[in-house]
Amino acid sequence: MSTETADGNAGPATVGFVGLGNMGGPMAANLVGAGHRVTGFDLVPEALAAAAGAGVEPAGSAVAAVADADVVITMLPAGRHVLALYEDQGLLAAARPGTLFVDCSTIDVADARAAHEAAARAGHQALDAPVSGGVVGAEAGTLTFMAGGGAAEFARAEPLLAAMGKKAVHCGGAGAGQAAKICNNMILGISMIGVSEAFVLGESLGLTHQALYDVASTASGQCWALSVNCPVPGPVPGSPANRDYRPGFAAPLMAKDLGLAANAVRSGGVQAELGLRAAELFAAFAEGEGAAEDFSGIVRAIRQRSGTGGPTAQETEQNGTTTA
Ligand code: NAD
Repeated sequence: MSTETADGNAGPATVGFVGLGNMGGPMAANLVGAGHRVTGFDLVPEALAAAAGAGVEPAGSAVAAVADADVVITMLPAGRHVLALYEDQGLLAAARPGTLFVDCSTIDVADARAAHEAAARAGHQALDAPVSGGVVGAEAGTLTFMAGGGAAEFARAEPLLAAMGKKAVHCGGAGAGQAAKICNNMILGISMIGVSEAFVLGESLGLTHQALYDVASTASGQCWALSVNCPVPGPVPGSPANRDYRPGFAAPLMAKDLGLAANAVRSGGVQAELGLRAAELFAAFAEGEGAAEDFSGIVRAIRQRSGTGGPTAQETEQNGTTTA
C-alpha cells in the first residue's frame, strides 16, 4: 500500500471518483482505506450513500467531485457514459489543468482513444485502466489493472492502482489497456464454450465429468475455464456450477466484453471467426436463460440444444445439483 501522491510526493492524493456501483464503490473505499482523500459521485443515491459510509466524501454532481482532484477515476457502464461525462457534462473543463484522468470502465478501444484525445485537448493526462477480478477483487483490493497511456501517466497512477489491486500491467499507448482486456476475455469466452462443448460431448459418449476433468486438467486441454471455473458441478468445488451457476462472472458482462471484441475484430478486418461466434452465442445466452447466471452456465444451453442426457445419474446425485 502506497500513500505516495499522484505528483510523486509522500502523502495522500486527492481523488475524484465518478461511478460508485458494484465495482467503483469498493474501489473508492479501498482508496480511502489507503489514506487518500476521495470525493465521489454517482447518479444513484443509494450507491453514493454506501460509498459515503465507507469514508468517501459525497459530492452533489460529477463536476463537483473533480474540482479539487489530482486524479479523476471513472468506473462507468460503457464508453458513451465516459465520453458524455468528459465533454458534454463538463468533467474535463471542471478539473484543474494537468489532472490525470484514469478510466477503469470496460469500453470500446475506439472510445478509449477518443477519451485520451479529449483529455489531451483539455490540457490533462489520461490513462485507460480496465480491470479483471470482478466484485470480489474490487472488495478485496486484488484487481488486476491493464493500463494504456504514457509511461509518465502510468507511473503517476501506480500508487492509486496499488491501493485497489494486486497487479498493474502497462500494456502500451492509448487504448492498449482496453485492447488487452478484450483480447483476454475473447480467449476466455471461446475457451469456456470449448470446455462446455467437450463436457457435453463426453456426456453423449458416456464419459463422466470427473474422468474428463482428471485427464484434461493435467493434459493439453488445461485452461482457466476448466480448472478454476469448471462449467459442470463436482470436479472444482468452488466453481459457480456448484451453486446453480450464481455468478461469478455474470453472462451479460461476458456478452458485453465479447461485443466489444467483436467490434474491434470487424473494424480491424481480423479473421477471428471463433471470437465472433462466441460473441453471438453469449449474446443469445445473456438475453435469455443466462441473464442472471455465471457465464459458465452456457454449458446448459449447449446441452439443451444437443438434446443429450446430461451427466450420469450417479454424478447428479453426488453433486446434489440440477444440470438440465
Ligand atoms: P454498475 O452498473 O454497478 O456501476 C456503474 C455505476 O455508474 C452505476 O452506479 C451508475 O449509476 C453510475 N453512473 C452511470 N452514469 C453516471 C454518471 N453520468 N454520473 C455518475 N455516475 C454514473 O457497474 P459495475 O459492475 O460497477 O461495472 C462498471 C464497469 O466495470 C463496467 O464497464 C464493467 O464492464 C466493468 N467491469 C465490471 C466487472 C464486474 O464483475 N462487475 C468486472 C470487470 C469490469
